Amino acid sequence: MICDANGIKYVASPLLQGKPVTHGFLTRIGGVSPAPYASLNFDARDTDPAENVERNRALFHEAFGVPAGRLVTVSQVHGKEILAIEGPLPEKPVEADAIVTNETGVAIGMLTADCQPILLFDPVNRAIGAVHAGWKGTALGIVVETGELMWKKYGTNPEDLIVSLGPCIGPCCYKVGWNVLEEYMSRHREADCFSEKDGLRMDINNANSIQLALIGVKNENISNDSRCTSCNSDLFFSHRKDNGRTGRQLSFIMLGGDER
Ligand SMILES: [Zn+2]
Repeated sequence: MICDANGIKYVASPLLQGKPVTHGFLTRIGGVSPAPYASLNFDARDTDPAENVERNRALFHEAFGVPAGRLVTVSQVHGKEILAIEGPLPEKPVEADAIVTNETGVAIGMLTADCQPILLFDPVNRAIGAVHAGWKGTALGIVVETGELMWKKYGTNPEDLIVSLGPCIGPCCYKVGWNVLEEYMSRHREADCFSEKDGLRMDINNANSIQLALIGVKNENISNDSRCTSCNSDLFFSHRKDNGRTGRQLSFIMLGGDER
């Protein structure tokens, strides 16, 4: 479902409604950056001036009631490092592709443009996770690794875990090379998430859903948004659709806050 916070359009997970967390899969709508980063771009690495990204961050903090300085993002590298936040927040983004914490009032976020953002919530032990999963992260099983780290650190039982899979590129638009299938199959036993139609296609959303089911996450505790970022590039930044020159949207989750 698409929601609005001060003009920022975002996708909310039906499974997180009424839960003691604040979250959102933000779209590209509601910021100040000009094309090709129009408009709610959170990535300052490209040629969008840093002051635009700063302004977009400020608009986010205001719209979602996240205190300034309490949004943690990472330098995403398509790997399987996971940042666990305990105590003081990192001063600079560290290299990682997932974050976990059980601290209240700390928003953890991922930036994407076709890769899948995934938000995890353990309501029993009050812990959260945020994951960035492109084909590499999905092949590495990063969402499963994140669930396992939550088990080790917070005692998270997969049967209690609520997982919201965010908008990503769909198999309609995601043609991949055979090396992707090969790499995936080097770690996983089935290839249901691949199909052949005018070339090889990968369904990242389906791959992550299958991996979660295999570790015992209940089907009714997994939600996904079937909108393809490339088919809906008016709503989402899409690396493929925009030929690499585009922004990054933010997805985040925080324990506490105004609980939306
Ligand atoms: Zn598509």
